[in-house]
Amino acid sequence: MTTTWSSQPVLRVQGLEVTYYTDLGRAKALDDVTFSLGAGEKMGMVGESGSGKSTLALAMMRMIKPPGRIEGGTVHIGDTELMGLTEEGMRKARLSKIAYIPQGAMNSLNPVTRIGAQLVDAVKSHVSGDSNSAIKDRCLAALRSVDLDERVFNLYAHELSGGMKQRVCIAIGILLQPQVIIADEPTSALDVVTQRQVMETIDRVKDEINAAVILIGHDMGLMAQFVDKVAVMYAGRLVEVATVRDMFTNPRHPYAQALIESLPNLDNKGVFQGIPGLAPSLLRLPSGCAFHPRCTHAQDICKQVRPEVNHISDGRLVTCHLFDKEAVHVQSA
Ligand code: SF4
Repeated sequence: MTTTWSSQPVLRVQGLEVTYYTDLGRAKALDDVTFSLGAGEKMGMVGESGSGKSTLALAMMRMIKPPGRIEGGTVHIGDTELMGLTEEGMRKARLSKIAYIPQGAMNSLNPVTRIGAQLVDAVKSHVSGDSNSAIKDRCLAALRSVDLDERVFNLYAHELSGGMKQRVCIAIGILLQPQVIIADEPTSALDVVTQRQVMETIDRVKDEINAAVILIGHDMGLMAQFVDKVAVMYAGRLVEVATVRDMFTNPRHPYAQALIESLPNLDNKGVFQGIPGLAPSLLRLPSGCAFHPRCTHAQDICKQVRPEVNHISDGRLVTCHLFDKEAVHVQSA
């Protein structure tokens, strides 16, 4: 099957690198991460805990705190390169160009301030010159977009259910109609029905403002239903990026294969097949390919030489020596 990639990406991440300098040593949390996403596209970012998914989101928002450091790479949204902006320029770009809905966002709503005031503050910190009534109209429109009644504007967080709070966080994220939305585990701690409603809300909002969406999570079932392509991370690297269909029907990277094989299905009748071994510590990464101690396809080269990112013939990206011969030349974005 031919993979369809967006010809004009709205988001281009190139060679992003993040390192944490700890008392125990140097941990490379993001290693040469490169991908792009078109307007209206949704990408799921999956991988075990510590694989770098949330670090990637924080790096794109330039919110990495010491002892972490962004050590290289660029993030373009349209013609704007975020890493080159001043602090004030980046502060303005957050929400207006790129919005981040962090893990547990719904617990970060201020308990003593009405929801409406929190929305108004978010707009005022980015937009100057609009009248109070125009700002309120914008906030009410954002609440309606996420299927919340306008009366939520006057309520406090404790008066809302978990699903309603999560939708308020999405409303804050879309107030300024950003071109890119990153949602980090947006449905964790919600029941299954509410999870689906929140995901449908993200989907609808994405269509309304034609944003590119990155969905970070562990739930492959949700990913299968809601994203267009899937990126798999391992030890700070993107190891495979493919359309959701290609990823679920024919994963190519051995780690992606193991992830998909570990999912329950009707054939394995409740017998779960885990991935052998543990994810490596970023402080002591194995030589060569970081997955080699767990990989059933490992060869001698895998222990010695770090695999490059291979763009292979069906348009997908695989970081593995098994595909070195299939790699095709791709002009960098
Ligand atoms: Fe396995 Fe080698 Fe590919 Fe790494 S590079 S995933 S060890 S085959």
